[in-house]
Amino acid sequence: MKIYNTLTKKKEEFVPLQEGKVRMYVCGPTVYDLIHIGNARPMIVFDTFRRYLEYKGYDVNFVSNFTDVDDKIIKRALEEGTTAEEISQRYIRECKKDMEDMNVKPATKHPLATQEIGGMIDMIQTLMDKGYAYNSDGTVYFRTRKFKDYGKLSKKNIDDLEAGHRNIKVAGEESKEDPLDFVLWKPKKEGEPFWKSPWSDGRPGWHIECSVMSKKYLGDEIDIHAGGEDLVFPHHENEIAQSEAANGCTFSKYWMHNAFLNIDGTKMSKSLGNFFTVRDISKKYDLQVLRFFMLSAHYRSPLNFNAELMEAAKSGLERIITAGEKIRDAQQTGTDGEMTKEEQDLLGEAQTYVQKFEAAMEDDCNTANAISAVFELVKFTNSRLDSSNTKKFAKQLYDILLRLCEVLGILLERRTQAVGDEDYINEMIQKRAQAKKEKNFALADSIRDELAGKGIILKDTREGTKWSRN
Ligand code: AMP
Ligand code: ZN
Repeated sequence: MKIYNTLTKKKEEFVPLQEGKVRMYVCGPTVYDLIHIGNARPMIVFDTFRRYLEYKGYDVNFVSNFTDVDDKIIKRALEEGTTAEEISQRYIRECKKDMEDMNVKPATKHPLATQEIGGMIDMIQTLMDKGYAYNSDGTVYFRTRKFKDYGKLSKKNIDDLEAGHRNIKVAGEESKEDPLDFVLWKPKKEGEPFWKSPWSDGRPGWHIECSVMSKKYLGDEIDIHAGGEDLVFPHHENEIAQSEAANGCTFSKYWMHNAFLNIDGTKMSKSLGNFFTVRDISKKYDLQVLRFFMLSAHYRSPLNFNAELMEAAKSGLERIITAGEKIRDAQQTGTDGEMTKEEQDLLGEAQTYVQKFEAAMEDDCNTANAISAVFELVKFTNSRLDSSNTKKFAKQLYDILLRLCEVLGILLERRTQAVGDEDYINEMIQKRAQAKKEKNFALADSIRDELAGKGIILKDTREGTKWSRN
């Protein structure tokens, strides 16, 4: 399998450090609000990559953090008159709900920065002992120039960086030895959460968090470190400097970065205000559609979000699910007995689409081509499967489609929580109105009860039936 390594700017053969095992770390979100669909892109693409590694038989230790102490969290807590902990706990809960609805598997471990402060203090101390860090009035900085490989990931030249920094004085950071140095530990300000340390009551810098959580849960050297491309510099560059200086070995063998999710060609981000939350999208679509949309492009290509592409994703997904239903029906209605010779040949043909799928995934996780292979399998199913086939054949064909969809994280069974989907609710309301018209009150009541069971309350008014969430 080949993956594009940001470190070497090349597609490289993937060889894990330890045979059969993969240690992978993905930088997670800062939890101060609902995640937006730009944040969902790395979650979905690296979850799919992980699923493919597991499909290949690797035992994957997949770690993804939540950054739960940060200026934005503290700001939000002050605005709401509550604690930073309350804010971060709330948005971790919401994020996990979104992940579940996007069918993103929980990581092997989701560490929280606030639970790992001891490890951060230890690593900072090691860096100080080795001369890579210094304390200046309670703020600890990393001595960037001392780390000779600085810039190797982002391909930045340290002297160019220095020139860029020379005129920029950041308030409160005048005590740095060099403008390039970055913060490892900073003292608290009034009203902020803090931890005791040998240098000051304060909190860690953002970069040290990931270095420490990766070390604790995966070891000093890992196979793959991943995240969005905006993290290459400075976050990942700084993580490399800290980890390699402290541990004395390569931090991560491969670095994978997803391109941006854009709107009108501009990166979707909170600060620009050009974003949709995953929750917004869930009101209109089952989040399977969002997942399918994300996977329709290669993860290193920029992807533009728009209504047309979402509709295309919706109908593409529908085609796959319908084919799944057709094969499930055939498993019920097909003939008993052994597969025919012709059916065995057909399964051989179906396997060629599996090979195409695998070849696409082997080529730097090309999900766009992998989806094309699934569509070919769907077309094959629609033209070749009919009522004369055996149940056994239908079962084998279903298993093939199911395995590929599992890699993509696409569910072949329609989800009842399509209840988040307004189209679905409106469809049910119409079905109920029709049932009432036909005086089929039992059916009408069962539709109302089914929706009620999912927290959707119907109210019949003169203008028609209205619904609300419980
Ligand atoms: P943050 O909470 O800003 O640290 O972001 C969490 C993850 O989402 C990081 O891996 C970012 O690189 C990624 N990310 C943020 N915005 C986008 C975007 N518009 N497109 C793709 N990835 C993004
Ligand atoms: Zn990180």
